[in-house]
Amino acid sequence: MTDPLCVDLHSHWLLNGHYLRRRLERLRPDPLALGPLGNRFGLEMALEGHVHGVAFTAYSPLLSGALALQDLRAQFRTLRRAAAASEGRLRLVRTGKEVREARRDGVVGGFLAVEGGACLARGIPALEELATEGVRMVTLVHFVPNALGDPGEFPVHPHRGLSPLGRRLVPEMGRRGILPDVAHLCDEGVRQVLDLAEGPVVCSHTGMRALCDRPRNLPDDLARGIARTGGLVGILWFPPYLARNPRGVGLDRVVDHMRHAASVAGPDHVAVGTDLDGWTWPPRGLEGHHRLPALAEALARAGFSDAEVQGILGGNALRVIGDGD
Ligand SMILES: [Zn+2]
Repeated sequence: MTDPLCVDLHSHWLLNGHYLRRRLERLRPDPLALGPLGNRFGLEMALEGHVHGVAFTAYSPLLSGALALQDLRAQFRTLRRAAAASEGRLRLVRTGKEVREARRDGVVGGFLAVEGGACLARGIPALEELATEGVRMVTLVHFVPNALGDPGEFPVHPHRGLSPLGRRLVPEMGRRGILPDVAHLCDEGVRQVLDLAEGPVVCSHTGMRALCDRPRNLPDDLARGIARTGGLVGILWFPPYLARNPRGVGLDRVVDHMRHAASVAGPDHVAVGTDLDGWTWPPRGLEGHHRLPALAEALARAGFSDAEVQGILGGNALRVIGDGD
């Protein structure tokens, strides 16, 4: 098999990279399985895993509106500074074509994403600012209801899915080249996004509910709906969303979720969204991006064709990120 070009739809280096000033140079992950304050992302590990496209997710946990936007702007600057200091090994990209160029040049292409739409409380001008900054994906909600909608894991859903502002912004995202990301959103909200979106919808980091029954995970009918938009179901690497008993969860469980996602949404709509460094810990055998070749082998053993493996690990994501035309 030729080495797949890998893309990670959801990673959180910026959390510690921005707030704790961690560097990009980590060579190996922390030996502790649960080390939320130690970063797992490292350029060398990413390149060892053939990762040439990474969504650097900016996340402002406590703020909303203009203050959240200000905080995100500072995080974007942190990433630009880190790229400038990386001796050319991390390059900011916006398109699938630029990710392929990053592979040709042997470097990591980082694109901007935002998790939690609280920063969009001001509506279209805020969305326009994110588009101008180069943000390519916005995860609408996180763990508490915000200006755009309700998360599945939150006990009450005051907006019954999307808020009026969320309904207004979802179609506007597609028009500005921003992928609406329904990870964390409650089922009702995902249905509304599928109705309203103009263009592909992604669920950047999720488990499949059929294999791990939690409201945070994606049910089969909504995975099918996402595929109908031409979008992506990114399978995450976080044991509590992969199995009811997360102890001992390993790489094979990620393969199980990918296999299930492929069986309902089609292999062309499955992707990788690790959630690494999101104060999470990874499954055994997938301690960092450098383990992606092992995931490729496991997918091939599970019966996926060479082309399907290439698609799941990166090709599908590149198709959906698009070339900006
Ligand atoms: Zn998340």
